[in-house]
Amino acid sequence: MNKILKRVLIIIGIIIGVIVLMFTWFFLKLKSETSGFAPMETGKIVEDIFVVKDGFANLFIIKDSAQYIVFDCANDKTTVAEQMKILGINLEDVSTVFLTHSDGDHVGALGLFDQAKLYMSKEEVQMINGTKSKFLWFGNSIPRTDYLLLEDREIVQIGNLKIEGILVPGHTTGMMAYLINDKYLFSGDILSLKEGKMAPIPAFFNMDNEQAIKSMEIIRHFPTVEYIFTSHWGYTEDYETAVAY
Ligand SMILES: [Zn+2]
Repeated sequence: MNKILKRVLIIIGIIIGVIVLMFTWFFLKLKSETSGFAPMETGKIVEDIFVVKDGFANLFIIKDSAQYIVFDCANDKTTVAEQMKILGINLEDVSTVFLTHSDGDHVGALGLFDQAKLYMSKEEVQMINGTKSKFLWFGNSIPRTDYLLLEDREIVQIGNLKIEGILVPGHTTGMMAYLINDKYLFSGDILSLKEGKMAPIPAFFNMDNEQAIKSMEIIRHFPTVEYIFTSHWGYTEDYETAVAY
């Protein structure tokens, strides 16, 4: 065989080998890190707040008179629809969806709520328009373009619910936590809970880990909060203990 051709084939072989190794490492790491997740079973948590389990992800629902507000959309349409049926919640009664961020395990069932208003942070748009990606060239995507964008600390009033967006970048560029009536905090993936205490999520999942840890500190300073609901590590009704150093 021609010497040059042989060399070219060896180089191509090495490149393919490296790519295969990278993907293998990524998926093994993903599997081992997600095995540490502790999602809640589908059910009612407190007052008008419900949780839906879809694999390793939770989404949350708040009832306000006849309407429901959904926070994040987990992995899979079929599973989420089944679980909501168990809760007795009609998909058509969901008036609004808030996304903490655009990762696949938070937007998977978004297509169930096409008639609902959709909110996310302004900074998260970079994740879905191809400007920023989490892993190599794989950007996030959502099946809608009619989203409404929120600034840091912007407030949306829906019925009796005051919903405040708190920008907490790091996990993604526009990760947003939501504070409801100054009392309930949906933290998305900016923190985990370990034995009732707030803890960073594994660095592997963060785009900018240093920034994510700084953002987690923001969460310590909301004295009126009582509950924190995380997307993969359960919830606490003792905010004070959770955020104490
Ligand atoms: Zn997540």
